[in-house]
Amino acid sequence: MKLIDKHNRVHNYLRFSITGNCNLSCLYCNPDKKKNYKKDSLSKNQILKIIELFFKSGITKLRLTGGEPLLRDDFDELIIGIYELNKSYKAELGITTNGILLDKKAQLLSDCGVKSINISLDSLNIEKFKEIAGNDKLIRTIDAINNLKEYSNISPKINTVLIKGKNDNEIFDFVDLSIKNEIPVRFIEFMPFSKNEWRDEQFIPYSEMIEKIASKYDLIRAADESSVAKYFNIAGTKAKIGFISSISEHFCGNCNRLRITNDGKMKLCLFSKGNDILDLKTIIESQSIEDAQLSINNFLQVKHQEHPSVNELKILKMNDMLEIGG
Ligand code: SF4
Repeated sequence: MKLIDKHNRVHNYLRFSITGNCNLSCLYCNPDKKKNYKKDSLSKNQILKIIELFFKSGITKLRLTGGEPLLRDDFDELIIGIYELNKSYKAELGITTNGILLDKKAQLLSDCGVKSINISLDSLNIEKFKEIAGNDKLIRTIDAINNLKEYSNISPKINTVLIKGKNDNEIFDFVDLSIKNEIPVRFIEFMPFSKNEWRDEQFIPYSEMIEKIASKYDLIRAADESSVAKYFNIAGTKAKIGFISSISEHFCGNCNRLRITNDGKMKLCLFSKGNDILDLKTIIESQSIEDAQLSINNFLQVKHQEHPSVNELKILKMNDMLEIGG
């Protein structure tokens, strides 16, 4: 089976937010500073059941997101469950984390075949990190990044959201981190989400980021690993940097992504309208696999060709990144 929408896009990539809890309160994601931990809405078994449904429906790439996915109390059992399940499907497994708990979980992730680890990191300066992320544990993330070199089956990447006036003065520090650690760094355009008070003057288009880096380094266009990031090598080094231009040059035409929120709602787009959801938590308890697949396929047909304009995104309600998982 393949999940194909009416724009002829094959959807083989599932991003699953397994918790709405986070140990950071980043400006662009968790500005309300939600730190009162709530019981996770989906049990381990419900998550596994939903993942199996999607593996059976043509998903070949799964990424766990959050919140902070490593915060789940039952994370170890869950990832082992996914590993066992995936023996029959051989999907590519990934996780996006802020890295604070990563050192403790790296061996387990490696053992469970999680190849792609994306680490969200927006500042290399302790004071600035505190200001952006509301936490002073930067060193833990840096240590985890350094220690990932021990795992040859893991390919890490760093994701950095650049915000004008906040962390754009660190752009060269991140390039230097990529050079030093030979780890790809991807600069992401700041996107409007509910409550993050996105403003035009904070936005840096990727073309401006490239221009800035090219003023110091020779950039050589590299092959893109996916339709999402535009990659460049830094001449004379093993560094690779990428740019994710969701706002100034979106890549919706090649979208292959589906999302599940931490409370079991399927979303067709990062910027779906609040009520544009399919309640998978109910569906897996009440429908046969065949009927559930039909429900998913019918829902997929309402997916828009591209995300709304920035002006619409600024006022979009119920688009909470903490719940969708980015
Ligand atoms: S904005 Fe929506 S449609 Fe566009 S690439 Fe992202 S998820 Fe896909």
